Amino acid sequence: MKYDRILIRYGELSTKGRNRKAFISQLKHNIGWAFQDFEGIKIEANRDRAHILLNGTNEKAVIQRLKGIFGIQSFSPVLKVAKNVEAIQNGVLELLREHSNPNETFKITTKRADKEFPHDTNEMNHLLGGHILKSGIGLKVDVHKPDHNVLVEIRKEAVYISVSVIPGAGGLPVGSSGKAMLMLSGGIDSPVAGYLSMKRGVEVEAVHFHSPPYTSERAKQKVMDLAKVLSTVSGKIKVHIVPFTKIQETIQAQVPENVTMTSTRRFMLKITDQIREKSKGLAIITGESLGQVASQTLESMYAINSVTSTPVLRPLLAMDKTEIMNIARDIGTYDISNRPYEDCCTIFTPSMPKTKPKKEKVEHYESYVDFTDLIEEAIQNTETFIITPEDKSADEEVNSLF
Ligand code: ATP
Ligand code: MG
Repeated sequence: MKYDRILIRYGELSTKGRNRKAFISQLKHNIGWAFQDFEGIKIEANRDRAHILLNGTNEKAVIQRLKGIFGIQSFSPVLKVAKNVEAIQNGVLELLREHSNPNETFKITTKRADKEFPHDTNEMNHLLGGHILKSGIGLKVDVHKPDHNVLVEIRKEAVYISVSVIPGAGGLPVGSSGKAMLMLSGGIDSPVAGYLSMKRGVEVEAVHFHSPPYTSERAKQKVMDLAKVLSTVSGKIKVHIVPFTKIQETIQAQVPENVTMTSTRRFMLKITDQIREKSKGLAIITGESLGQVASQTLESMYAINSVTSTPVLRPLLAMDKTEIMNIARDIGTYDISNRPYEDCCTIFTPSMPKTKPKKEKVEHYESYVDFTDLIEEAIQNTETFIITPEDKSADEEVNSLF
Protein backbone atom coordinates (compact mmCIF):
# COMPACT_ATOMS: atom_id res chain seq x y z
CA MET A 1 0.00 0.00 0.00
CA LYS A 2 1.31 3.42 -0.87
CA TYR A 3 0.73 5.71 2.07
CA ASP A 4 0.91 9.44 1.62
CA ARG A 5 1.57 10.55 5.17
CA ILE A 6 1.52 9.60 8.82
CA LEU A 7 -0.90 11.33 11.10
CA ILE A 8 0.47 11.92 14.62
CA ARG A 9 -1.70 12.46 17.71
CA TYR A 10 -0.18 14.33 20.62
CA GLY A 11 -2.21 12.85 23.45
CA GLU A 12 -1.33 14.20 26.85
CA LEU A 13 0.49 17.14 25.40
CA SER A 14 -2.81 18.59 24.20
CA THR A 15 -3.81 19.35 27.76
CA LYS A 16 -0.90 21.63 28.50
CA GLY A 17 -2.69 24.94 27.98
CA ARG A 18 -0.39 27.88 27.45
CA ASN A 19 2.71 25.73 27.14
CA ARG A 20 1.22 23.85 24.28
CA LYS A 21 3.04 25.82 21.62
CA ALA A 22 6.43 25.14 23.19
CA PHE A 23 5.60 21.45 23.57
CA ILE A 24 4.56 21.13 19.95
CA SER A 25 7.63 22.90 18.64
CA GLN A 26 9.86 20.73 20.85
CA LEU A 27 8.18 17.60 19.50
CA LYS A 28 8.50 18.85 15.94
CA HIS A 29 12.17 19.51 16.57
CA ASN A 30 12.66 16.04 18.08
CA ILE A 31 10.89 14.32 15.19
CA GLY A 32 12.97 16.37 12.75
CA TRP A 33 16.12 15.23 14.50
CA ALA A 34 15.04 11.59 14.48
CA PHE A 35 14.45 11.67 10.75
CA GLN A 36 17.36 13.80 9.68
CA ASP A 37 18.79 10.95 7.65
CA PHE A 38 15.53 10.44 5.75
CA GLU A 39 15.65 12.51 2.63
CA GLY A 40 12.37 13.72 1.28
CA ILE A 41 10.11 13.51 4.30
CA LYS A 42 8.56 16.69 5.64
CA ILE A 43 7.07 17.40 9.05
CA GLU A 44 4.07 19.64 9.61
CA ALA A 45 2.92 20.28 13.15
CA ASN A 46 -0.21 22.22 13.98
CA ARG A 47 -2.28 22.73 17.13
CA ASP A 48 -3.99 19.36 17.17
CA ARG A 49 -1.97 17.05 15.01
CA ALA A 50 1.29 16.62 13.24
CA HIS A 51 1.84 15.01 9.86
CA ILE A 52 4.87 13.38 8.38
CA LEU A 53 4.62 13.74 4.62
CA LEU A 54 6.33 10.68 3.23
CA ASN A 55 6.98 11.91 -0.31
CA GLY A 56 7.53 8.36 -1.50
CA THR A 57 9.53 7.13 1.54
CA ASN A 58 8.57 3.61 2.65
CA GLU A 59 6.42 3.97 5.76
CA LYS A 60 7.77 0.89 7.57
CA ALA A 61 11.06 2.43 8.66
CA VAL A 62 9.30 5.65 9.59
CA ILE A 63 6.77 3.80 11.74
CA GLN A 64 9.53 1.87 13.48
CA ARG A 65 11.38 5.01 14.43
CA LEU A 66 8.28 6.95 15.43
CA LYS A 67 7.55 4.33 18.10
CA GLY A 68 10.58 5.53 20.07
CA ILE A 69 9.76 9.23 20.18
CA PHE A 70 8.28 10.59 23.40
CA GLY A 71 5.30 12.95 23.23
CA ILE A 72 3.37 10.88 20.71
CA GLN A 73 0.18 9.22 21.86
CA SER A 74 -0.57 7.32 18.66
CA PHE A 75 -0.18 7.59 14.93
CA SER A 76 -1.81 6.32 11.76
CA PRO A 77 -0.55 5.81 8.25
CA VAL A 78 -2.82 7.72 5.89
CA LEU A 79 -3.86 6.86 2.36
CA LYS A 80 -4.50 9.69 -0.07
CA VAL A 81 -7.16 9.15 -2.73
CA ALA A 82 -8.89 11.24 -5.37
CA LYS A 83 -12.02 13.19 -4.50
CA ASN A 84 -14.70 10.93 -5.86
CA VAL A 85 -16.91 8.40 -4.14
CA GLU A 86 -15.60 5.40 -6.01
CA ALA A 87 -11.97 6.14 -5.20
CA ILE A 88 -12.82 6.66 -1.53
CA GLN A 89 -14.83 3.42 -1.39
CA ASN A 90 -11.95 1.50 -2.93
CA GLY A 91 -9.45 3.09 -0.57
CA VAL A 92 -11.47 2.28 2.56
CA LEU A 93 -12.02 -1.29 1.43
CA GLU A 94 -8.37 -1.78 0.61
CA LEU A 95 -7.29 -0.56 4.05
CA LEU A 96 -9.87 -2.60 5.95
CA ARG A 97 -9.02 -5.69 3.97
CA GLU A 98 -5.44 -5.33 5.13
CA HIS A 99 -6.08 -4.40 8.75
CA SER A 100 -9.19 -6.32 9.85
CA ASN A 101 -10.36 -9.87 10.42
CA PRO A 102 -13.78 -11.34 9.59
CA ASN A 103 -16.49 -10.76 12.22
CA GLU A 104 -14.83 -7.65 13.58
CA THR A 105 -16.76 -4.40 13.65
CA PHE A 106 -16.20 -1.01 12.05
CA LYS A 107 -17.52 2.47 11.85
CA ILE A 108 -16.97 5.23 9.31
CA THR A 109 -16.24 8.74 10.54
CA THR A 110 -16.23 11.27 7.77
CA LYS A 111 -15.04 14.84 8.19
CA ARG A 112 -15.86 17.23 5.40
CA ALA A 113 -13.54 20.21 5.47
CA ASP A 114 -14.43 20.94 1.86
CA LYS A 115 -18.11 21.89 2.01
CA GLU A 116 -18.32 21.91 -1.78
CA PHE A 117 -17.98 18.16 -1.88
CA PRO A 118 -21.42 16.99 -3.10
CA HIS A 119 -22.13 14.49 -0.28
CA ASP A 120 -22.41 15.49 3.36
CA THR A 121 -20.88 13.41 6.16
CA ASN A 122 -24.02 11.33 6.77
CA GLU A 123 -24.33 10.41 3.15
CA MET A 124 -20.65 9.55 2.99
CA ASN A 125 -20.84 7.34 6.07
CA HIS A 126 -23.67 5.43 4.41
CA LEU A 127 -22.08 5.24 1.00
CA LEU A 128 -18.83 3.92 2.46
CA GLY A 129 -20.39 1.70 5.16
CA GLY A 130 -22.72 0.14 2.59
CA HIS A 131 -19.81 -0.58 0.29
CA ILE A 132 -17.91 -2.40 3.02
CA LEU A 133 -20.98 -4.43 4.10
CA LYS A 134 -21.58 -5.52 0.51
CA SER A 135 -17.95 -6.31 -0.15
CA GLY A 136 -18.00 -9.72 1.52
CA ILE A 137 -15.03 -9.13 3.86
CA GLY A 138 -17.22 -10.07 6.80
CA LEU A 139 -17.25 -6.90 8.90
CA LYS A 140 -20.24 -5.60 10.85
CA VAL A 141 -21.13 -2.07 11.86
CA ASP A 142 -20.81 -0.95 15.46
CA VAL A 143 -21.08 2.80 15.92
CA HIS A 144 -20.39 2.70 19.66
CA LYS A 145 -17.36 0.46 20.17
CA PRO A 146 -16.02 -0.48 16.76
CA ASP A 147 -12.82 -2.50 16.36
CA HIS A 148 -11.93 -0.21 13.46
CA ASN A 149 -12.76 3.43 13.25
CA VAL A 150 -12.24 4.49 9.66
CA LEU A 151 -11.38 8.17 9.43
CA VAL A 152 -12.17 9.83 6.13
CA GLU A 153 -11.13 13.44 5.79
CA ILE A 154 -12.40 15.29 2.74
CA ARG A 155 -10.18 18.25 2.02
CA LYS A 156 -9.88 20.73 -0.84
CA GLU A 157 -6.99 18.94 -2.51
CA ALA A 158 -7.76 15.28 -1.82
CA VAL A 159 -9.29 12.76 0.57
CA TYR A 160 -7.29 11.15 3.40
CA ILE A 161 -8.20 7.78 4.89
CA SER A 162 -6.77 5.98 7.91
CA VAL A 163 -7.84 2.86 9.79
CA SER A 164 -4.99 1.60 11.90
CA VAL A 165 -3.97 3.32 15.10
CA ILE A 166 -0.46 2.48 16.26
CA PRO A 167 0.38 3.27 19.91
CA GLY A 168 3.20 5.77 20.36
CA ALA A 169 5.74 5.86 23.20
CA GLY A 170 3.56 8.30 25.17
CA GLY A 171 5.21 10.69 27.59
CA LEU A 172 6.32 14.22 26.83
CA PRO A 173 8.81 15.47 24.24
CA VAL A 174 12.37 15.26 25.59
CA GLY A 175 13.50 18.77 26.49
CA SER A 176 10.05 20.08 27.36
CA SER A 177 10.41 19.55 31.12
CA GLY A 178 13.77 21.18 31.84
CA LYS A 179 17.12 19.62 32.65
CA ALA A 180 18.30 17.21 35.35
CA MET A 181 21.55 15.43 36.17
CA LEU A 182 21.45 11.63 35.97
CA MET A 183 23.86 9.83 38.30
CA LEU A 184 24.87 7.14 35.85
CA SER A 185 26.73 4.08 37.14
CA GLY A 186 27.51 1.08 35.00
CA GLY A 187 24.64 -0.82 36.62
CA ILE A 188 21.25 -1.90 35.38
CA ASP A 189 19.17 0.65 37.24
CA SER A 190 20.45 4.13 36.51
CA PRO A 191 20.16 3.97 32.69
CA VAL A 192 16.53 2.89 33.16
CA ALA A 193 15.97 5.80 35.55
CA GLY A 194 17.41 8.13 32.90
CA TYR A 195 15.21 6.68 30.21
CA LEU A 196 12.04 7.05 32.30
CA SER A 197 12.92 10.66 33.13
CA MET A 198 13.37 11.36 29.45
CA LYS A 199 9.95 9.87 28.93
CA ARG A 200 8.52 12.67 31.06
CA GLY A 201 10.30 15.26 28.94
CA VAL A 202 13.46 15.75 31.00
CA GLU A 203 16.69 16.64 29.24
CA VAL A 204 19.28 14.47 30.94
CA GLU A 205 22.97 15.14 31.56
CA ALA A 206 24.90 12.19 32.98
CA VAL A 207 27.43 12.31 35.81
CA HIS A 208 29.69 9.31 36.39
CA PHE A 209 32.25 8.78 39.14
CA HIS A 210 35.24 6.67 38.36
CA SER A 211 38.18 5.67 40.47
CA PRO A 212 41.20 4.63 38.43
CA PRO A 213 43.19 2.46 38.90
CA TYR A 214 40.57 0.66 41.03
CA THR A 215 38.16 0.93 38.13
CA SER A 216 39.29 0.23 34.61
CA GLU A 217 39.04 2.06 31.32
CA ARG A 218 36.51 -0.59 30.33
CA ALA A 219 34.20 0.36 33.18
CA LYS A 220 34.25 3.92 31.85
CA GLN A 221 33.62 2.67 28.31
CA LYS A 222 30.59 0.81 29.60
CA VAL A 223 29.13 4.05 30.87
CA MET A 224 29.86 5.75 27.56
CA ASP A 225 28.07 2.93 25.74
CA LEU A 226 25.08 3.24 28.05
CA ALA A 227 25.00 6.97 27.39
CA LYS A 228 25.08 6.25 23.70
CA VAL A 229 21.93 4.16 23.96
CA LEU A 230 20.21 6.94 25.91
CA SER A 231 21.35 9.44 23.29
CA THR A 232 19.22 7.71 20.70
CA VAL A 233 16.19 9.02 22.58
CA SER A 234 17.32 12.59 22.87
CA GLY A 235 19.71 13.11 19.97
CA LYS A 236 22.66 13.74 22.24
CA ILE A 237 23.66 13.51 25.85
CA LYS A 238 26.37 15.18 27.87
CA VAL A 239 28.44 12.94 30.12
CA HIS A 240 30.58 14.29 32.96
CA ILE A 241 33.24 11.89 34.16
CA VAL A 242 34.39 12.80 37.66
CA PRO A 243 37.74 11.49 38.98
CA PHE A 244 36.80 10.12 42.37
CA THR A 245 39.85 8.12 43.48
CA LYS A 246 41.26 10.54 46.02
CA ILE A 247 37.95 11.17 47.69
CA GLN A 248 37.23 7.48 47.90
CA GLU A 249 40.65 6.75 49.38
CA THR A 250 40.16 9.51 51.90
CA ILE A 251 36.76 8.15 52.89
CA GLN A 252 38.29 4.67 53.27
CA ALA A 253 40.96 6.05 55.56
CA GLN A 254 38.67 8.31 57.51
CA VAL A 255 35.29 6.80 58.26
CA PRO A 256 34.48 3.44 59.86
CA GLU A 257 34.08 0.72 57.27
CA ASN A 258 30.36 0.17 57.80
CA VAL A 259 29.47 3.72 56.78
CA THR A 260 31.93 4.19 53.90
CA MET A 261 29.09 3.49 51.48
CA THR A 262 26.90 6.19 53.00
CA SER A 263 29.72 8.66 52.96
CA THR A 264 30.70 7.79 49.38
CA ARG A 265 27.14 8.42 48.24
CA ARG A 266 27.01 11.71 50.09
CA PHE A 267 30.08 13.00 48.29
CA MET A 268 28.82 11.79 44.95
CA LEU A 269 25.57 13.63 45.51
CA LYS A 270 27.33 16.77 46.71
CA ILE A 271 29.58 16.87 43.64
CA THR A 272 26.73 16.09 41.27
CA ASP A 273 24.84 18.97 42.80
CA GLN A 274 27.69 21.37 42.11
CA ILE A 275 27.94 20.20 38.51
CA ARG A 276 24.17 20.61 38.27
CA GLU A 277 24.45 24.19 39.37
CA LYS A 278 27.02 24.94 36.67
CA SER A 279 24.93 23.17 34.05
CA LYS A 280 21.74 24.96 35.16
CA GLY A 281 19.91 21.72 35.91
CA LEU A 282 16.94 21.65 38.27
CA ALA A 283 17.09 18.16 39.75
CA ILE A 284 19.19 15.01 40.22
CA ILE A 285 18.08 11.56 39.11
CA THR A 286 19.27 8.26 40.60
CA GLY A 287 18.50 4.62 39.93
CA GLU A 288 17.62 3.90 43.54
CA SER A 289 14.79 1.52 44.33
CA LEU A 290 13.53 1.35 47.88
CA GLY A 291 15.01 -1.46 49.93
CA GLN A 292 17.01 -2.98 47.08
CA VAL A 293 20.38 -2.77 48.86
CA ALA A 294 21.77 -1.38 52.10
CA SER A 295 22.30 2.09 50.66
CA GLN A 296 18.70 2.25 49.53
CA THR A 297 16.80 2.02 52.77
CA LEU A 298 14.89 5.12 53.82
CA GLU A 299 17.40 5.65 56.64
CA SER A 300 20.25 5.60 54.11
CA MET A 301 18.45 7.89 51.72
CA TYR A 302 17.83 10.31 54.56
CA ALA A 303 21.51 10.36 55.57
CA ILE A 304 22.69 10.68 51.98
CA ASN A 305 20.10 13.15 50.77
CA SER A 306 20.80 15.61 53.57
CA VAL A 307 23.79 17.08 51.68
CA THR A 308 21.45 18.93 49.33
CA SER A 309 18.01 20.46 49.10
CA THR A 310 17.91 19.96 45.32
CA PRO A 311 15.08 17.58 44.35
CA VAL A 312 16.42 14.04 43.95
CA LEU A 313 14.18 12.11 41.58
CA ARG A 314 14.01 8.34 41.91
CA PRO A 315 11.89 7.03 39.06
CA LEU A 316 12.52 3.40 40.07
CA LEU A 317 11.67 3.82 43.74
CA ALA A 318 8.62 1.55 43.68
CA MET A 319 9.84 -0.95 41.11
CA ASP A 320 11.00 -4.50 41.66
CA LYS A 321 14.31 -5.57 40.18
CA THR A 322 12.57 -7.81 37.62
CA GLU A 323 10.47 -4.89 36.37
CA ILE A 324 13.59 -2.75 36.04
CA MET A 325 15.41 -5.54 34.21
CA ASN A 326 12.54 -5.90 31.77
CA ILE A 327 12.67 -2.22 30.88
CA ALA A 328 16.46 -2.42 30.54
CA ARG A 329 16.04 -5.26 28.06
CA ASP A 330 13.41 -3.35 26.11
CA ILE A 331 15.52 -0.23 25.77
CA GLY A 332 18.71 -2.12 24.97
CA THR A 333 20.85 -1.27 28.00
CA TYR A 334 20.67 -4.62 29.79
CA ASP A 335 23.51 -6.39 27.98
CA ILE A 336 25.84 -3.43 28.35
CA SER A 337 25.06 -3.12 32.07
CA ASN A 338 25.72 -6.81 32.50
CA ARG A 339 29.30 -6.61 31.26
CA PRO A 340 31.44 -7.67 34.20
CA TYR A 341 33.57 -4.56 34.73
CA GLU A 342 33.52 -3.29 38.27
CA ASP A 343 32.44 0.20 39.21
CA CYS A 344 33.89 2.28 41.97
CA CYS A 345 31.26 1.22 44.46
CA THR A 346 31.60 -2.50 44.11
CA ILE A 347 35.31 -2.31 44.81
CA PHE A 348 34.96 -0.35 47.99
CA THR A 349 31.81 -2.07 49.17
CA PRO A 350 32.16 -2.97 52.85
CA SER A 351 31.28 -6.48 53.87
CA MET A 352 28.67 -5.29 56.36
CA PRO A 353 27.34 -1.88 55.32
CA LYS A 354 24.99 -0.24 57.80
CA THR A 355 21.40 -0.41 56.69
CA LYS A 356 20.40 2.30 59.16
CA PRO A 357 23.23 4.81 59.15
CA LYS A 358 22.77 7.88 61.31
CA LYS A 359 23.24 11.13 59.47
CA GLU A 360 24.78 12.88 62.50
CA LYS A 361 27.33 10.11 62.99
CA VAL A 362 28.39 10.12 59.35
CA GLU A 363 28.69 13.91 59.45
CA HIS A 364 30.81 13.60 62.55
CA TYR A 365 33.25 11.10 60.96
CA GLU A 366 33.52 13.22 57.81
CA SER A 367 34.22 16.35 59.83
CA TYR A 368 37.76 15.17 60.65
CA VAL A 369 38.89 15.98 57.13
CA ASP A 370 38.32 19.11 55.10
CA PHE A 371 37.01 17.73 51.83
CA THR A 372 36.57 21.15 50.20
CA ASP A 373 39.80 21.08 48.20
CA LEU A 374 39.33 17.46 47.18
CA ILE A 375 35.84 18.24 45.90
CA GLU A 376 37.10 21.32 44.10
CA GLU A 377 39.89 19.32 42.48
CA ALA A 378 37.49 16.56 41.38
CA ILE A 379 35.22 19.11 39.73
CA GLN A 380 38.16 20.91 38.10
CA ASN A 381 39.37 17.65 36.59
CA THR A 382 35.98 16.45 35.43
CA GLU A 383 35.94 15.57 31.76
CA THR A 384 32.84 16.33 29.76
CA PHE A 385 31.84 14.50 26.59
CA ILE A 386 28.95 14.95 24.23
CA ILE A 387 27.69 11.58 23.12
CA THR A 388 25.59 11.19 20.01
CA PRO A 389 24.12 8.05 18.47
CA GLU A 390 26.42 6.35 16.03
CA ASP A 391 25.38 6.50 12.44
CA LYS A 392 22.00 4.81 12.25
CA SER A 393 23.18 1.60 10.64
CA ALA A 394 25.67 0.95 13.42
CA ASP A 395 23.07 1.92 16.01
CA GLU A 396 20.71 -0.70 14.81
CA GLU A 397 23.32 -3.37 15.36
CA VAL A 398 24.45 -2.29 18.78
CA ASN A 399 21.66 -0.79 20.82
CA SER A 400 19.06 1.45 19.42
CA LEU A 401 15.85 2.58 21.00
CA PHE A 402 14.20 2.92 17.64
P1 ATP B 1 22.71 0.89 39.41
O1 ATP B 1 22.20 -0.40 38.83
O2 ATP B 1 22.10 2.09 38.78
O3 ATP B 1 24.19 0.92 39.51
P2 ATP B 1 22.53 -0.14 42.02
O4 ATP B 1 21.38 -1.03 42.23
O5 ATP B 1 23.88 -0.74 41.76
O6 ATP B 1 22.15 0.91 40.89
P3 ATP B 1 23.77 1.52 44.00
O7 ATP B 1 25.06 0.97 43.66
O8 ATP B 1 23.34 1.62 45.43
O9 ATP B 1 22.57 0.78 43.30
O10 ATP B 1 23.64 2.96 43.38
C1 ATP B 1 22.49 3.72 43.58
C2 ATP B 1 22.51 4.87 42.61
O11 ATP B 1 23.64 5.72 42.84
C3 ATP B 1 22.67 4.41 41.17
O12 ATP B 1 21.45 4.01 40.60
C4 ATP B 1 23.23 5.64 40.52
O13 ATP B 1 22.21 6.57 40.25
C5 ATP B 1 24.13 6.20 41.62
N1 ATP B 1 25.52 5.73 41.41
C6 ATP B 1 26.10 4.64 41.93
N2 ATP B 1 27.39 4.53 41.52
C7 ATP B 1 27.63 5.59 40.70
C8 ATP B 1 28.77 6.04 39.96
N3 ATP B 1 29.91 5.39 39.95
N4 ATP B 1 28.62 7.18 39.24
C9 ATP B 1 27.45 7.86 39.24
N5 ATP B 1 26.37 7.46 39.91
C10 ATP B 1 26.44 6.35 40.64
MG1 MG C 1 25.52 0.05 40.85
